Amino acid sequence: MADPKKVLQNLSHTKVKDFHACRWFFKRKYIDKALKKEVTEALDAAVQAHKVLEDRIKHGKELPAAYAHMEKLIKALEAEYKYLYAEEQFAIDLTSYAPIGYEDWAKGNELGVYRAKIDLIASKQPIEKTREAMVFDWKTGTPREDPAQLRDYAIMMFAHYPKLEKVTARYVWMRERRGGVRIEYLREDLPALIEELNEDVSTIRNIRHIVESTDEYRALWFKNPGWKCKWCNDYDCEFNKAR
Ligand code: SF4
Repeated sequence: MADPKKVLQNLSHTKVKDFHACRWFFKRKYIDKALKKEVTEALDAAVQAHKVLEDRIKHGKELPAAYAHMEKLIKALEAEYKYLYAEEQFAIDLTSYAPIGYEDWAKGNELGVYRAKIDLIASKQPIEKTREAMVFDWKTGTPREDPAQLRDYAIMMFAHYPKLEKVTARYVWMRERRGGVRIEYLREDLPALIEELNEDVSTIRNIRHIVESTDEYRALWFKNPGWKCKWCNDYDCEFNKAR
């Protein structure tokens, strides 16, 4: 069992999405730690894809045959952008929105921290000096655009690289062999982007102060049958549709 306050202090896109999808699932997964990590084919494929692409971009390792179709994209990016950065980790403090170290979340602050990993950053100059960059997220599953995640990447980029004026973000749907929707973010958009992120995390931030032994705390964690029940690994739940 984890300390709920610490769990709620260290946020990410996936955690926030899980919280809004079903609070009972969130509690079982992150606080009770009652759900076994499942090694499904889909998860395996995603982990492997990220690793082989990281090895290719960082170390020039040849892509395995199953990923050979990605070589064309990597080569095109290498030709267009001089600097490619794979699997970069970022965090911001949710009080000031200032950049902090990825592992510094435990140091704590009033409202918590938000973390993200970006699969690929491409820029024509070193990232600390450039005014424009592209960010990519490799996806191995069924295409489903999620602008909130791309927004979070833009927030991280603007926070960590003060010279950046424009960030273009998109998914790469690997199975379909195509790019997703391109979204352009300008630095002047940052206050509005932070406002959106604030809305997403505000409920979580507010419940951090509720005392665990109270009825109010117990009432927080209700089941919310919906789209997540199809993919949920809480097999004890009566609404589970994945068993
Ligand atoms: S099966 Fe549905 S309602 Fe039950 S814990 Fe999972 S997501 Fe929540």
